[in-house]
Amino acid sequence: MIYLDNNATTAIDPLVANLITEVLLSGPANPSSQHGVGRSAHRHIENALEVIADCLGTDFSLPGGPRLIFTSGGTESNNLALAGLGVEDGPLIISRIEHPSIFAAAEAQEAAGRRVAWLEVDSNGVVDIESLKPLIQSFADDEPVGLVSLMSANNETGVLQPIEQAADICRSAGVPLHIDATQTIGKLPTDLSKLNPAAVTFTAHKFHGPAGIGALWLGAGVKLRPVFHGGEQQLTTRPGTEPVALIAAMAAALRIATDNLNDTIDKTAALRDHFESSLCQRHNELVIHGQSAERLPGTTNISFVDSNRQSMLMALDLAGIACSSGSACSSGSNPPSHVLLAMKADKSLVESALRFGVSRFSTMQEVNEAIDLISNVYNRLRSDSIVEN
Ligand code: PLP
Repeated sequence: MIYLDNNATTAIDPLVANLITEVLLSGPANPSSQHGVGRSAHRHIENALEVIADCLGTDFSLPGGPRLIFTSGGTESNNLALAGLGVEDGPLIISRIEHPSIFAAAEAQEAAGRRVAWLEVDSNGVVDIESLKPLIQSFADDEPVGLVSLMSANNETGVLQPIEQAADICRSAGVPLHIDATQTIGKLPTDLSKLNPAAVTFTAHKFHGPAGIGALWLGAGVKLRPVFHGGEQQLTTRPGTEPVALIAAMAAALRIATDNLNDTIDKTAALRDHFESSLCQRHNELVIHGQSAERLPGTTNISFVDSNRQSMLMALDLAGIACSSGSACSSGSNPPSHVLLAMKADKSLVESALRFGVSRFSTMQEVNEAIDLISNVYNRLRSDSIVEN
């Protein structure tokens, strides 16, 4: 199988998988226990925090400074952020292209009575940041905006979003900003001390760590209302026994990703650019979404004009290629992409779009094989669809 679905999840780095086994086999690990075994589990967490802080340009050792809440992944971090940050029930501002774990959570809150305002995107899939300030100002003084939440890069197109500008606007308006950085942390340089938003989501399985562990970074002094109630773990903000091996693994995966960042960026950008240009050379009718915007280095979203994304996806799967026809979270029900619709792409382009993503484990040989296979499958399905019409 040629795995080109690295925006959905990535293969675990063997070094990280070995570390998980090592920590799991090193003994029982409840970091809240007051005996030596508990203290050793606690040390794993302290070490992980130091590593993560170093990789993300932050510091968890300062009293009253930034904090990290370990969660089960991006979905939980995003839900905690929307439910627990800023003015409770104050209007929420998000964009049209957020991940389902943001927009479905926002819709649920809207159904429960919270006001939700949406930022539009342009045809490249970049959030219209110019409208953020007037949108914040459009709410009356007695109804201050509770939270703005924006993603750093879109998971379907890879298009990078203007989060620095969002951070500036939110800071001067006194509104907390949550960033869903699930697609950029571990893939692009991140310096939280410069950006300094209220909160940031990330998850280990996007950078060759294990699934089931993620985090919500909280800026200095930022309070998060808990959703779960239980013990005293994580200062009661997110109770439950911490998964020590997964936390150690997330830190190790982030360390490796950060140490290899420049090489990975160069490599994945070269693979993606070669993939796009070779396919477009063979089929000049292909449409690449968000191509003229800044994108994640390894991601591309391509409409195979006159084909159907589901038929293509299944035929490619049979041919040995893993890719995606939307966000992995919606692949079961498979509605048309809300991201491409928000970009006002033609319906036929939305219906023929597939996402491909390479990682640092991808090779040029795989990409070349994939180009041939995709091109053959497309020629076959396209001619079928032309005959049917
Ligand atoms: N946010 C974005 C932008 C994502 O791409 C994803 C996963 O695809 C998530 C959130 C959810 O992360 P998780 O799968 O760890 O719950």
